Amino acid sequence: MKHTLCIIKPDATRRALTGEILALIESQGLKIKALKWLHLSRKEAQDFYIVHKERPFYSELVEMMISHPVTIAVLEAPGAVEKYRNLMGATNPAQATAGTIRAKYAISMGENSVHGSDSLENAQKEISYFFSQREIF
Ligand code: ATP
Ligand code: MG
Repeated sequence: MKHTLCIIKPDATRRALTGEILALIESQGLKIKALKWLHLSRKEAQDFYIVHKERPFYSELVEMMISHPVTIAVLEAPGAVEKYRNLMGATNPAQATAGTIRAKYAISMGENSVHGSDSLENAQKEISYFFSQREIF
């Protein structure tokens, strides 16, 4: 079994889509192993997306991530990273496959409703950034 990190982003929180998105995730066989509701600080959002520091959308991304609370989950499944990325759909919702979370719910490239780790290595880093061992079931 492998793990990945999911964040339900502020645009989805704001539109009361948290329950629906979690239900969709669970219905696809991704098991929730840890869960928290957080209002990220600016520093946390900056650090979390530090790889995008030089990108033109970085400050917009940070402001978006702190605009509302988020729900953060550890998901487990065989091939969890790829399985959840497939369920999320493309970063740009206009290019997301029908039925994916982003095709269903995302508003734009910036407000795209969910985050998912992009590799096993990053999943491990991201999980330990938000959760202690005793918070993961
Ligand atoms: P995430 O890391 O959030 O799961 P991703 O891996 O699909 O998304 P990344 O390239 O890592 O996409 O970009 C991180 C996030 O930055 C995107 O999900 C989106 O919210 C924002 N972003 C990316 N490109 C743009 C852009 N051109 N304009 C505005 N925001 C963007
Ligand atoms: Mg990414």
